Amino acid sequence: MLQAPTNALRRSMTNVLQSRSALQGLNASLSQFRAFHVFRDVPSLRNHRRELLLNGKTIGLVPTMGALHNGHLSLARMAAEENAEVFVSIYVNPTQFGVNEDLDSYPKTWDTDIAQLEDLDAELKSKGKGRITTIFAPTSKTMYPTLPPDSTLPGTGSFVTITPLANLLEGKSRPVFFRGVATVCMKLFNIVQAERVYFGQKDVQQTVIIRRMVEDFHLNTQVRIGPTEREADGLAMSSRNVYLGERRRKVGIVLHQALKAAEAAYKMGKRSRGEVMTLAWDVASQMSMEQERLSARDGARFEVDYLSLADPDTLEEVDVVDDGKGAVLSGAIKMMPVEAVRDGEKLGLGDDKVPVRLIDNLILEPLKA
Ligand code: AMP
Repeated sequence: MLQAPTNALRRSMTNVLQSRSALQGLNASLSQFRAFHVFRDVPSLRNHRRELLLNGKTIGLVPTMGALHNGHLSLARMAAEENAEVFVSIYVNPTQFGVNEDLDSYPKTWDTDIAQLEDLDAELKSKGKGRITTIFAPTSKTMYPTLPPDSTLPGTGSFVTITPLANLLEGKSRPVFFRGVATVCMKLFNIVQAERVYFGQKDVQQTVIIRRMVEDFHLNTQVRIGPTEREADGLAMSSRNVYLGERRRKVGIVLHQALKAAEAAYKMGKRSRGEVMTLAWDVASQMSMEQERLSARDGARFEVDYLSLADPDTLEEVDVVDDGKGAVLSGAIKMMPVEAVRDGEKLGLGDDKVPVRLIDNLILEPLKA
C-alpha cells in the first residue's frame, strides 16, 4: 500500500528541519492533504476491505481503465451517493484488446486521474455522504497470477465467457473483447467484494453482459448503471476521444446524430425496423458522402461497423419494437486516419494517424401500460 505522506517522510523531514515550530507548521499542512489508499496487490487490499466490513462500511466499486473523464467521475459520484466508500480500480486489461488493437497506445494518465479523483473527493466531502478512499491499480502479474494474459483466440488461461451475448454487436468485430471484460470484472468483483459495482450506459453491451454474469454466477453484488455523459454537442465522452483532432472530432458526432434520428422515429410512433433504422442510415450515408466529396486535406472518412436495433435483454436484432420492452439502439463507427494534414491544423494524440472506434447507444424506453 502506498500512502502519502509516509511516516518515514515525516521522520526525515524532522532531521532536516531540526526546528520544532517549523515541523509543527509542516504537519498541520500535511494533515490537510488527503491521500487515497493505493493498492497494487490482493492480500493488502483484502485486509483493508475486511477492516471496512467489520466497521460496517459499504463499498461501491467503479472499474476503469484510467484516462478518466466526466463519464468515470459521474459513476464515482453515483457510488458515493449509495455507499460509505468508493473504490476506483485503474487497470488497462490486456485480455480485452485483440492482438491488432490499441493496447500499447491506450492513454495512460495516472497523475491527472488521481488529481481528478482528489478534486471530486473534495466536492464529496462537503456533501457529507460517501467518499472516494481507495484506488486499486494492480499489475498484470497480480491480475493474471498463473499464466500471462492471452488475448488470442481460442486463448490459454482461465476465462469467463458469456455467450451468445459476447458474440453479438461489438463482439462481431472484437471477438476476444467481452471474454476479457467478463474475466477481469469477475476478478475485480472477487477481490473487492463490493456491495455495488458501477458501470456506464455508454457501453450498453457491457452492462447487459455484466448483469448476466452476476446473475448466472450468483455474484454477491448489485450492478448499478449510470447515464452516458456527453460533450455539449452530444458526442459520448470516451478515453479514446483524445485521438480525435478537430476535423475527425466534428465528423465523429455523426453516430450520435444517426441514433437520434432513429430515436425520433420511434418517438413518433414508428415500430418496424425499416421505419426506425432507415433514418439512422440516411444520416450516416449523407455524412459519409459529404466527406468523400471533400479533398484529402479537408475530409474525415469513416466506416459504419453496425447500426443496431436490438432486444434489451438478449441484444438480438428485432424486426418490430415491442412496446412493452422497448429496444436498444446502438452503433459503432471507425474514424479513419486523416489522409493529409493542413498547416496549423489541430491534431489529436497520435497526429490523427490512429483509427478510432466510436460507440454509442440510446435506450428506446418501453411505453408505460
Ligand atoms: P473504461 O475506462 O473505458 O473501461 O470505462 C470505465 C467505465 O466508465 C465503464 O463502466 C464505462 O461504461 C464507463 N464510461 C465510459 N464512458 C462513459 C460515459 N461517457 N458516460 C458514462 N460512463 C462512461
